[in-house]
This record gives sequence, C-alpha cells and structure tokens, in this order.
Amino acid sequence: MPDIIVLMGPQGAGKGTQAHMLAERFKLPLVATGDMLREMAQSDAPLGLQVRAVQAAGQLVSDDILAEVVKTRLSRRDCEHGCILDGFPRTLPQVLLLESIAEHLGHQITVISIEVPREQLSKRLAGRQTCSACGAIYNIYFKPSDKGGVCDLDGHPLFTRSDDNEEAIIQRLALYDQNTRPLLDYYAQTGRLHRVDGTGAPEEVFGRIVKLLGKQAALEAN
Ligand code: AMP
Repeated sequence: MPDIIVLMGPQGAGKGTQAHMLAERFKLPLVATGDMLREMAQSDAPLGLQVRAVQAAGQLVSDDILAEVVKTRLSRRDCEHGCILDGFPRTLPQVLLLESIAEHLGHQITVISIEVPREQLSKRLAGRQTCSACGAIYNIYFKPSDKGGVCDLDGHPLFTRSDDNEEAIIQRLALYDQNTRPLLDYYAQTGRLHRVDGTGAPEEVFGRIVKLLGKQAALEAN
C-alpha cells in the first residue's frame, strides 16, 4: 500500500468521510488539517483568533502556519508507516513542503482526486453536520443521524461548521478552483494522480478507491 495517501477534491466531495474510512481500513493515522486548525481556533490566544477568523471567512490559513502544523504532526511516531492526508496540500508551497517531508521520511505519495459535479457540492455542504468528538460526518438531507443532533457512534453533539454558510461556501469553492485544482496537474504529470467518481453512496465511492489502491499495489509488486 502507498505510504501517504492524499485525498483531494473540492469541499463537499466527501474527502473527510473517505479519509475516515481509509484510515480505519489501512490502520493509518488520519491527518486532517481543517480539523487540526479548527482545534487551534478554539484558543483565545492570538494565533487561535487569527485562524478562527480566516476559517470562518472560508479563506486559506497561511502556508507558514500550515508548514509548522504539518511538519510537527507528520514527524510523530504514529506516522512512521504513512498517513491519510485530508485537506493538505492546497497550495504549491504546500505541495513542495510535502515532497520534502515525504522524501525525508522515505514515503511515496499517492493522490486520489474525488470528483463530484459542482451542483451537488453546495447541497452536500449546506446540510453537513460533524460530530464534536470523533469527527464523523452526517448530512441532514442525505445521511441524518439516527438519534437527531447527536452522533450515532458516540452520542456527542453534532455541530454545523462556521464556514458551511452560503457565502463562505462560494468563497471556498472559488479558492479551490484557483489554488488547489492546478495542483492536480502537477500530480498527474508526475504519475501519482488517480481520479475517482465521487457520486453515489460513501460505501460505493470507498469501494472504488480501495479497488484502485489494490490495483496500484499489485502493479508495484510486479
Ligand atoms: P477543511 O476542513 O479541509 O474544509 O478546512 C477548513 C478550513 O481550514 C479551510 O477553509 C481553511 O480555512 C483551513 N485549512 C485547512 N487546510 C488548509 C490548508 N492545507 N491550507 C490552508 N488553509 C487550510
């Protein structure tokens, strides 16, 4: 199996859901920069306040902050066999940083782009609810929690992210097109990009990803 699996795709494509499922299946730690930054944003220290404002507006947190957060996280022991990356990299400097970290740790990078038609994305984002404890993702339209307002897995309350409002959603999708989509070309040119149809139930999408990772592992073994 590849060491670092990077999930890419616009907000609402289902990266978070797939990242959780992949981490569990392959017993790799899940490194979700959005979650890590949201945790930082809970602090009232200057850095926390700065991250909170940037996130709420749907803008990108600075590359310097990301570099610090990701370098520290990936150098932890549990990442020695790799990890699942959700939400990173999003800019070219972040791509280059990841290249150097991966080289240093001796990890290969495999990128999976989850592709969903634009008109489906806004609805997925507008209905999204996240568990405050385990990060499990629900949707009031497509996948409501059985217990209503609390997580089916651990009973903790669900919350709606501050950036899942219409204005921030438009801003985040525009930023994806501008900054992140071009990164797919870079990974395609270096032969590490795999595109996956992200429509349908999460289990169907997961099946597609596992199948392609299996094919890739077989190719590498030959
Ligand atoms: P996500 O949960 O991945 O949608 O991320 C939520 C928000 O966290 C983004 O809209 C950004 O404000 C910030 N963020 C997460 N990952 C990054 C990143 N790699 N670079 C810059 N900002 C990020």
